[in-house]
Amino acid sequence: MPQLRLDTPVQFLKGIGEKRAEAFARLGVHTTQDLLLHLPHRYIDASSVTPLAEARVGDDVACVGTVTSKGVLPTRKGLRVFHAVLRDASGVLECAWPGQAFLDRTIQVGQLLLVAGPVRFYHGRQMAPREMVILGEDGESPGRILPVYPATEGLSHKQIRTIIDAHLDSLIPLVPDILPDELKARFALPSLAEAVRLVHRPTSLTEAEQGRRRLAIDELLDLQLMLARARHIARHGQRGTPFVLHRTLTTKLRESLPWTLTPDQKQSVREIFDDMTKADRMHRLLMGDVGTGKTVVALFAMLLAVENGYQAALMAPTELLAEQHYRTLATLLAPLGIHPEMLVGRLGASDKKAARARLASGETQLVVGTHALVQEGVAFSKLGLVVIDEQHRFGVEQRSALMLKGEAPDVLLLTATPIPRSLALTRYGDLDMSVLKVRPPGRGTIRTAVRTPAQRAKVFDFMHQTVQGGGQVYIVLPVIEESERADLRAAQTMATSLAAQWPDVVVGLVHGRIKPPEREQVMRDFRDGTVGVLVATTVIEVGIDVANATVMVIEHPERFGLAQLHQLRGRVGRGTKESHCILLTSSDGVPDRLRAFAATDDGFQIAELDLEERSHGDLLGARQSGGVDFRIARFPDDTDLLSEARALARAILDTDPGLERRENKPLRERAVARYPKAEVLFRVG
Ligand code: ADP
Ligand code: MG
Repeated sequence: MPQLRLDTPVQFLKGIGEKRAEAFARLGVHTTQDLLLHLPHRYIDASSVTPLAEARVGDDVACVGTVTSKGVLPTRKGLRVFHAVLRDASGVLECAWPGQAFLDRTIQVGQLLLVAGPVRFYHGRQMAPREMVILGEDGESPGRILPVYPATEGLSHKQIRTIIDAHLDSLIPLVPDILPDELKARFALPSLAEAVRLVHRPTSLTEAEQGRRRLAIDELLDLQLMLARARHIARHGQRGTPFVLHRTLTTKLRESLPWTLTPDQKQSVREIFDDMTKADRMHRLLMGDVGTGKTVVALFAMLLAVENGYQAALMAPTELLAEQHYRTLATLLAPLGIHPEMLVGRLGASDKKAARARLASGETQLVVGTHALVQEGVAFSKLGLVVIDEQHRFGVEQRSALMLKGEAPDVLLLTATPIPRSLALTRYGDLDMSVLKVRPPGRGTIRTAVRTPAQRAKVFDFMHQTVQGGGQVYIVLPVIEESERADLRAAQTMATSLAAQWPDVVVGLVHGRIKPPEREQVMRDFRDGTVGVLVATTVIEVGIDVANATVMVIEHPERFGLAQLHQLRGRVGRGTKESHCILLTSSDGVPDRLRAFAATDDGFQIAELDLEERSHGDLLGARQSGGVDFRIARFPDDTDLLSEARALARAILDTDPGLERRENKPLRERAVARYPKAEVLFRVG
């Protein structure tokens, strides 16, 4: 065998042949280093097992006992259930594994089993084990913390445990420690080698967690170094324009507004002005739920550019949104004598040509548009600020295409998708952020209700009455056609049946298979009030403002994520009237998550709930967190580590922007190894 290194393929390890190497590859484990970082997704605390007689109904416990009898019984809706009775000195306990008849081949009378799971009442006390380990083999005995590893077909968690345990002692000495001592001291973090030992062979759950946190911060630091580097390049690579606060237009706007800015808005404007008056380019994200008043904040930024003799551009993802912004800005700017320009694909050729000429000559100071703004032939005379609404709807190319229309313009990105701080740090770690949390006063409230099938008829009556009274209603369904899922109500069927049922109502339909121009037309008709009921899938625009639409009914809300439900709910409550969001469940029981959703209208709180829900959803350990996969870090639990990792990454780059110092080189190498595509970041600037 070649000398063991951290990049040695696992196949060279004893106990791993070709077959197992393939199985490991499916788990993302290729090298010995990957193997060391293949962490248990849970532990069984066999050091404190409950005597069988003391396992009570309602408890979640771990027990050890000898199998005295077993068998498969066909019960419960045709499910075949494997049963085993365990005995220890204290007594007996029955265990049942619904749908796992195959265990009959694995588990034999006389074996010593460790089981862990909830105890319930089913013809007596019965455990439904979540976890089961056959003890007494491979030296496994009660009295230690057993790691349980993410497994795959052809490679059980038990086999993985045996393999890792066998190689741990020879691999640990190879693990280098590259984290600065200062950070280790601050967080009481063990060395990397020690951390690896702790996660695989802890003597307590606390130790296991200590080890995991050390590995997590390393993982987070790698990403934060990349993001901090990207930020460094964006801000320092090209100098921006140090705008001067002339307070001509900006102050005029403040004086002419029909209301005062909310404290959040004031704070955001301050942060933006701070950035814009510096020589470094602004690269800022303004985050706030729908209705928190982002547009006017963006307008202040645009006017600062304009009062410095520069042009400002606002790009929105759809024509409808662009038109909406255009109207808003035109109204707010009228008292200032400024006329914004609109550039969208729908304009006639001669209008477009004229608009382009005004942009090129500098006559237009402020323009709103769609991606039509970035097309060839569009030239600005002096573009100083780029604002991008619903920035995630644009590709990087489109965003940078607009930036390239100017000479290093400042950039302000807007998003109506609040995300928890932890996610923001991983997704937008390279951006500075301003947040609008509180909605301005004076808008109608949104009441959220959960209704069960028995109340369907009443809900539909309410919708009908609303439309008859001159209001408008949305109804959202999870699928387009019945054929996709026979058990779900579908948008097309709903539109047809409502139209038949309510001849006095104009029913509109939008979904993903209707072409965008047609879809926009239906949305326009809805905005203009010609359509009374809009039946839709989740494609309805984020940010669309139809003040007269006050009811949002969502069918099969169980099928939607909480953040998605919140986005949908944001379509109503845009006017001054009270609005209703009604979740129409498909069964009688109302899940706690929907209750929690109905109880709050705080987008950030919902985002936290949503994140928790999703992080618990995936047992494989490869958690998807906003486009970045973390194998070790968990959110929201590790948010504190993330903030520290970000602060640390920025501090390191402040003194050594290219990570070129000898002590920082290992950091750079490891980060680049983890994010190969980001290598380019260290080749420029
Ligand atoms: P967002 O783009 O964040 O969804 P908007 O910018 O569309 O929100 O603002 C929502 C509504 O609130 C608009 O009608 C706007 O005129 C109004 N608005 C904004 N700021 C204030 C404020 N400080 N006080 C009262 N109303 C405001
Ligand atoms: Mg908006």
